[in-house]
Amino acid sequence: MHEIAIVNHLFEIINEVSKKENLSKISQVNFLLGEMQQIVPEIFRFAFESAAENTIAQNAILNIEIVSIKGQCNSCNKICDVKKVFYCSFCGSKDLNIINGNELIIKSIEGE
Ligand SMILES: [Zn+2]
Repeated sequence: MHEIAIVNHLFEIINEVSKKENLSKISQVNFLLGEMQQIVPEIFRFAFESAAENTIAQNAILNIEIVSIKGQCNSCNKICDVKKVFYCSFCGSKDLNIINGNELIIKSIEGE
């Protein structure tokens, strides 16, 4: 499952950060999730909580911030929200650069 691979990667980063910052307990993980990733937040959260058991991130709060898909139009240069159909909502051009929505990033990790 996609979500579990991401959670595994997430924990590699958590371990790295906690070593670097000398953290013994992770209290909060703030995560940016782009809509393009088609990840179900509930499954992701569940995978995170399962993986966190008996680690320093046990009971850590996972904040998932959903980033909507935005594109910049190559014809009119405007930035628009992209839903299911990929075209500019201003001029109808299909020549869009996706600038947001691909995120799969840890924004910050809090702990002590
Ligand atoms: Zn346009």
